[in-house]
Amino acid sequence: MDPQSQVLDRMDPQSQVQDRMDPQSQVQDRMDPQSQVVVLDRLRSSFRSGITVPEQFRLTQLTKLLSLVEENEQQILNALHKDLAKPKFEAIMSEVVIVTNELHFAISNLKSWMQPEYVSKNLATKFDDCFVRREPLGVVLIIGPWNYPLQLLLLPLVAAIAAGNCVVLKPSEVSAATESLMAELVPRYLSQDCYAVVRGGAEETKMLLQNRFDHIFYTGSQAVARVVLQAASLHLTPVTLELGGKSPCIIFGRIDIKAAARRLVWAKYFNLGQSCVAPDYVLCSPDTRDALLPALRQTLEEFYSQDPQSSPDLSRIVSPRHWTRLTELLGRSRGKVVIGGESHQEDQYMAPTVVVDVEEDDALMKEEIFGPILPIITVETLEESIDFIGRQEKPLALYVFSDESSVVNTVLQNSSSGGFCSNDGILHMTLPTLPFGGVGASGYGSYHGRWGFEALSHRRACMLRGWALERLNGLRYPPYTQTRLSWLRWSTSAKSSCSLM
Ligand code: NAD
Repeated sequence: MDPQSQVLDRMDPQSQVQDRMDPQSQVQDRMDPQSQVVVLDRLRSSFRSGITVPEQFRLTQLTKLLSLVEENEQQILNALHKDLAKPKFEAIMSEVVIVTNELHFAISNLKSWMQPEYVSKNLATKFDDCFVRREPLGVVLIIGPWNYPLQLLLLPLVAAIAAGNCVVLKPSEVSAATESLMAELVPRYLSQDCYAVVRGGAEETKMLLQNRFDHIFYTGSQAVARVVLQAASLHLTPVTLELGGKSPCIIFGRIDIKAAARRLVWAKYFNLGQSCVAPDYVLCSPDTRDALLPALRQTLEEFYSQDPQSSPDLSRIVSPRHWTRLTELLGRSRGKVVIGGESHQEDQYMAPTVVVDVEEDDALMKEEIFGPILPIITVETLEESIDFIGRQEKPLALYVFSDESSVVNTVLQNSSSGGFCSNDGILHMTLPTLPFGGVGASGYGSYHGRWGFEALSHRRACMLRGWALERLNGLRYPPYTQTRLSWLRWSTSAKSSCSLM
């Protein structure tokens, strides 16, 4: 493939803007299966050449990725605005800065992450070198979603580059402007022999998945995760699944209701609720609900004015299809809308909405909301709310708002979730020293910082032996005798300080 055709669908910013309006032009950019194979062959042969292994190569690519983000910040913000009407503030915070912070963290720590990890030894291996060596896996496929289309494509890429892999990036076709921009910029900044962007929707992704990868890193819905897992099973490919779910927010005990409302509103309506870690629903007592509702009303007005549709600080629903899903979902609910509820199709807008009198079997509780609708479910006791959560699939995040540390600890000790944060939302996932990932139906595997480097590295167990202590080693050879067996039994027993085998 000539270098020009490797720039799969480079286009100027203006045509990127038109791209979203013209589905036909997107389809023309898509790769046929044969071209996908050509790209993969190129990446695989680069990986086999060993070019991605040296620390210096990884550092150079990470630094170039940093330049990609820094030098094109305005274009990135434009694309995110086009895709989701993302407010500049939110786009910088949750897409640009989180990626540049991750890059700085990886660049500063790569040397130490790459060091062999020496392990403790026993008598029989006393003179050997025993260590764990982190090795790249090979060619990694990263499939991204549309809600944070830059962050959720590039953070796994940082991990993959740091770990020394080649990468195929498959951005979401739903966030078409960001997809276009990534397809244009990645080949301009990163090694085209090692990293490629493949564009496409469900059909192209399914075709891509028929190929053999060394790891698949998928972020998106549980339904598509099943397609990914099935395809991966053909080649026994390991998979990281970053999925969603219904992340609850328990509000219980003594509480500063005004502060709670501000943090809840921010976490829920950031990106208009289209966050995998957004609080999906609230569990609280009837008294707390009655105090919370006026505080929510007041906060919403402070944040987004009396006319939230005119606020520049609220994103839009990503597509007409997603807008229809949300309006139908709200329409099917038997709960009572007490705040918001308005929506406008042309603007792909739905107002920040709060629904009360929601039962466990309500339509709003049947799927992840992933939009600006907040159901409030009332329970009488903390134990009831813990039981409620225990009956659902394990969520990606669990939030507890309370002034009482006993409330926070009780929930922490009696629940399971991918991540946990008390008295705030979303923020736990911004720290690169904490692993980010799900558990159960919210996914498996985790990343961010060193956790991502580990997820995309193979931990090779290495024992470099010499020829010393051959007499001691001889104890394990035939002809087997009772004396040798007794000695082995003793030396490997818990009572013995040395274990031979
Ligand atoms: P999605 O599953 O529709 O799409 C994700 C990716 O899969 C896209 O690149 C898309 O092209 C591809 N795809 C879509 N249909 C496919 C098919 N049939 N076969 C193969 N590939 C296909 O997900 P989405 O709507 O983009 O994202 C929303 C979901 O993702 C929510 O559930 C949300 O909670 C979850 N999510 C999780 C995280 C996380 O970090 N855990 C982050 C963001 C979103």
